[in-house]
Amino acid sequence: MMIEIDGAEGEGGGQIIRTALALSMVTREPFRMRNVRAARDRPGLRPQHLVAVQAAATVSKAEAHGAVLGSTELVFVPRALTAGEYRFDIGTAGSTTLVLQTLAPALAFAGEPSTLVIDGGTHNDKAPPFDFLAQAFAPVIRRMGWSLSLELHRHGFYPRGGGRVSATVMPLAAPVPLELLARGPIAACVARALVARLPRHIGVREVNTVRESFSLPIQRAAVEEVGGVGPGNAVLLEIAAESITEVISAIGRKGLPAELVAAEAIRQAEDYLRLGAPVGPHLADQLLLPMALAAGGRFRTSHPSLHAVTNAKVIRKFLACSIEMTEIVSHQWEVNVTPRA
Ligand code: ATP
Repeated sequence: MMIEIDGAEGEGGGQIIRTALALSMVTREPFRMRNVRAARDRPGLRPQHLVAVQAAATVSKAEAHGAVLGSTELVFVPRALTAGEYRFDIGTAGSTTLVLQTLAPALAFAGEPSTLVIDGGTHNDKAPPFDFLAQAFAPVIRRMGWSLSLELHRHGFYPRGGGRVSATVMPLAAPVPLELLARGPIAACVARALVARLPRHIGVREVNTVRESFSLPIQRAAVEEVGGVGPGNAVLLEIAAESITEVISAIGRKGLPAELVAAEAIRQAEDYLRLGAPVGPHLADQLLLPMALAAGGRFRTSHPSLHAVTNAKVIRKFLACSIEMTEIVSHQWEVNVTPRA
């Protein structure tokens, strides 16, 4: 029996495809998806999603029908999840981190270590920047027993791309439930502005705007001139609390003044600090898959996003697990993931 997924449900974007691919590889359950990315301006598979499908097909020796650009229907039949050394090139600035998040959790069930090298964008709008994956996502899943090490070789920004990330994934041996209920005191806040092939003053204005807002001392702010095949800019705020590090980002784009890029990051950081829950909105939707695949657990976050709710629905189609989201106090939600035997 083929699992049927409506790609128009809820968030109606690319995450539905990535989660379905990851779970199909692990469970060996084939799926058919209709209405791929129906809620987006340009529906169907875009380069980043197509590479995710092709890469998933390669590592699981799958048959994939409808794996072409723009396709709104996809059938994926996995055969044998296989560890190995893999390289994939998105060919555009599409997000490498999202492709990595599709493959890495599955490869942890392949019995042997794997390495992945992925070329494309590393700091994209509406996707986790590499630093988020390395400092926010990976440390939390390591606590759950996952072994994922990550490296950034070259930055890649929209529209040129050309970045490179790599990952080493070890088999998941002894999963531990996640318990992340309180943030604890903030130990440090660091502001970084990445500038590639653009004037340095853009980064200087960004970190100065952030420093003013949070009264950050100068040694907690850095402008990093990074290489890259094309121009790009990102503001990263790392908020290290006792129990977790959150990485907040805003990506610069042509025509948007540096002060406004910084303001976008500041607004998100203020929300995170005010709401008080340890897990930020993006990490919340991204933790559901590794939790459901391992020993579950619970965490506290702010109001679950449509991404989180939609992701939970897709996960429940493949795995016998319960995912509950309950408002504990005003603006604080507890998410409980319980795998069933
Ligand atoms: P689409 O083009 O269909 O929107 P997409 O494949 O880019 O698709 P989404 O389905 O929107 O993706 O999923 C984006 C993912 O990126 C989500 O997991 C979301 O939490 C994450 N994300 C977006 N912005 C950030 C950010 N600033 N920091 C960390 N993660 C982020």
